Amino acid sequence: MIPIVHTQNSKLPSLDFNNIPFGTVFSDHMFYAEFENGKWQKMEIRPLENLSIHPSNLAWHYGQSIFEGMKATKHQDGTPMLMRPEMHAQRMNASADRMCMPNMPEETFIEAVSALVSLEADWIPPAKGSALYLRPIMFAADEFIGVKPSSKYIYMIMALPVGPYYATPLKLKAENEYIRAADGGTGEAKTAGNYAASLYPWKKAKEEGFDQIMWLDAKERKYVQEAGTMNIFFVIDGKVVTPATSGSILKGITRDSIIKVLKSEGYTVEERDITIDEVMTAGKNGSMTECFGTGTAAVVIHVKEVGYKGDTITLDADQFKVAPFAKGYIDSLRNGSIEDKFDWTIKLQQQVKA
Ligand SMILES: *Cc1c(COP(=O)(O)O)cnc(C)c1O
Repeated sequence: MIPIVHTQNSKLPSLDFNNIPFGTVFSDHMFYAEFENGKWQKMEIRPLENLSIHPSNLAWHYGQSIFEGMKATKHQDGTPMLMRPEMHAQRMNASADRMCMPNMPEETFIEAVSALVSLEADWIPPAKGSALYLRPIMFAADEFIGVKPSSKYIYMIMALPVGPYYATPLKLKAENEYIRAADGGTGEAKTAGNYAASLYPWKKAKEEGFDQIMWLDAKERKYVQEAGTMNIFFVIDGKVVTPATSGSILKGITRDSIIKVLKSEGYTVEERDITIDEVMTAGKNGSMTECFGTGTAAVVIHVKEVGYKGDTITLDADQFKVAPFAKGYIDSLRNGSIEDKFDWTIKLQQQVKA
């Protein structure tokens, strides 16, 4: 059992469930643990609070920091649910391995997430498509100037209620100059530096009127990789196509779920290399009917335009069929309104509060 220190001052009464800004509203508690002397310690759930960090903190200087993003939702009957938490536990450990950081046992991760979600169940917005977004983070805690793997780490999980995500369709810039990740680099890890490095090209793309970047491979700027911080899908000649995860593409869990859902519904899904030339050609001759990004936060976001070297293709996002079907299916699994034949969801016993 993970010990719980309860807040004396819940902020829940001030939450307006119909109007939740994304990314700024946090639930009352967080999971906290420290890694020291080769083991996890001081594990507890406690009121969300500021940390006191020494200015020489290794993570701040050299970026040894990783995170995850997952969701807890409410079943129609009110029970809190998780979806594929073991996948997030495994990916956090894979990110940790790449960044020379300790693993947290899968059972411990799932126990921590379950305990936090059970405690914060009243923070889960009930409407379909809304969720309690969970943000695990681990970072170096040594106080030391010099590049080395830290010996101490801090691990936290915070929880943010989020409403249904009504994203407007995106204009993507196929980025011909800057890259997100190269083979042999850190593209497969959810590590802080990847996101810092993407800010400048994203800023330039926005100045050119785009919403996000379509990343191309680092070597030839030829193969499509991702869309912003999402995986990317196309529908071409009725087939669903997504880049194979080659070593520099983040292995999205939503990507994996959508591939499995679409295959089970009889769609042809191809995981393969797809060139930007194929995308532009298929967009122009009309054989490409959809393009969308996938990720935990939004599930699916439609793409209505792709720009590449001054050339533009447009898509009629109102006519998309596969993308809204995939989003609807995942949202329905997450609120228990369809049968979970994949056995992905876990209902949590709600804890009685002290
Ligand atoms: C997290 C992330 C994704 C999406 O992964 P999900 O598991 O579906 O949330 C895709 N690309 C990048 C770069 C990411 O960081």
